[in-house]
Amino acid sequence: RTYLDWNATAPLGAPARAAMMEALLLPGNASSVHGEGRAARTAVDKARRQVAALVGAEPVHVTFTSGATEAANHVLTPEFRMGRAPLKVSRLYVSAIEHPSIREGGRFDPADVTEVAVTSDGVVDLAALETMLAAHDRSAGMPMVAVMLVNNETGIIQPVEEAAALVHAHGGLMVVDAVQAADRVSVDIAALDADFLIVSSHKIGGPKGVGALVSRGEVLMPKPLIRGGGQEKGHRSGTENFHAVVGFGAAAEAALHEFGDRNGRIAALRDRLEVGMRERASDVMIHGENVARVANTSFFTLPGLKSETGQIAFDLEGVALSSGSACSSGKVGESHVLTAMGRDPKLGALRISLGPETTEDDIDRALAAFGKIAGRRKLTGEAA
Ligand code: PLP
Repeated sequence: RTYLDWNATAPLGAPARAAMMEALLLPGNASSVHGEGRAARTAVDKARRQVAALVGAEPVHVTFTSGATEAANHVLTPEFRMGRAPLKVSRLYVSAIEHPSIREGGRFDPADVTEVAVTSDGVVDLAALETMLAAHDRSAGMPMVAVMLVNNETGIIQPVEEAAALVHAHGGLMVVDAVQAADRVSVDIAALDADFLIVSSHKIGGPKGVGALVSRGEVLMPKPLIRGGGQEKGHRSGTENFHAVVGFGAAAEAALHEFGDRNGRIAALRDRLEVGMRERASDVMIHGENVARVANTSFFTLPGLKSETGQIAFDLEGVALSSGSACSSGKVGESHVLTAMGRDPKLGALRISLGPETTEDDIDRALAAFGKIAGRRKLTGEAA
C-alpha cells in the first residue's frame, strides 16, 4: 500500500514511538509530589519545552489539550480574562477555508460568527477582513479573528502576519491554526504576531489525541473549557495524557530539526507527481499552483472524476489519498474550500499529501494508478 494522506494524519514517527515506549514504563502522576510523580512531571516539562521550541514560544505558554479541536474550542470563546478582569469578545471572524474545528466557532453563538471570504486563489481576502474590522462595534467587545497558516486541503500558505497587523490595529485578538504548518514551514508565534496558536501532534509524527493551545503571554487567557483539578495551570484540568504528551514533544523536536532538510526532498517528489499527472492527463487542474503552497500537498481535479469515485478508485489501486473535504467523519462531501475559491465543488477534487517517509516509488505507484484512473474516466463533456 502507498500512504499519501499525511495531511489527514502522519504515521507515528520513530522519535515519538521511542519516547512513548519509555514513558509507558513511568508509573507516576505528573501532579504527585513523590519521586514517581516528579519523574512524570520532568517528562511533561520536557515535552512542553519541545513543543514551545517548535513554535518559538515560552514553555509556560503551552497548554496541552486532547488535540487541535479542543484547543480551538478552548480559545474560541467570548469570555476572556485580562489578569483578573473579565474581557469580552463580541464577534469571531473566521476565514471561509478554516478547518471545521474553527469554522464551527467554538463557544461563540453561531450568530456571533462571521465568515471572511477568500480570493479565487484560495488566499484570505485581507481587504474584506479590514472592512469587517473597521465596521466592528468595539463598544460591544473585542473582535477575534481566526486565520489558518496553511490550509489542510490546498496547502496554500495564508497571509497571517498581514492579517494579524490588521487585527491588532483594530484592537482584536488573532488566533492561528498552525496544525498543517508546524513541520512544513517555520512557525514563530511572535513573528506571526499571533495571540494564540493551535498545534496538533498527529500531523507531525506524534500520537493522535493530543495537541496544544499556545499563547503569546500569560495575562490574556480564555475561560477554561475543562475545569476540575487545575492541571495545566488551571487552563485545562484533568491528568495529562502523559504518554501522548511525551510523544508529541519528541515529534516536535524531530520536526524542528529535520523539516528544513526534508522539505527540499518532499518538494522534488511533489514536482515529480504534478509533472507526471500532467503528462498522463493534460486537463488535470492543480489548485493553488500559482500561489505559495507548502511542499507536501497537491490538491487537484481530474475533470469527469468525482471525489468519492476517485478516492475509492485509488484505494482499490492500493493508494491512500483523500478528497480534501473528508475530515474526520468518513464522509466524502463537497469541498468548502473549493466553494470558497469560487470553483464548482461538484467538479470533485482529490488531495495527495506527502510526508518525510514518502519515496520516489510511492510517487511512481501513485502515478501508475493516476494514469489508469484518468484513462477510464467517464466523461460527460468534451474533455479528453
Ligand atoms: N486544523 C486543521 C487545519 C486540521 O487539518 C486538523 C485535522 O484534520 C485539525 C485542525 C483538527 O486537529 P485534531 O485532529 O488534533 O483535532
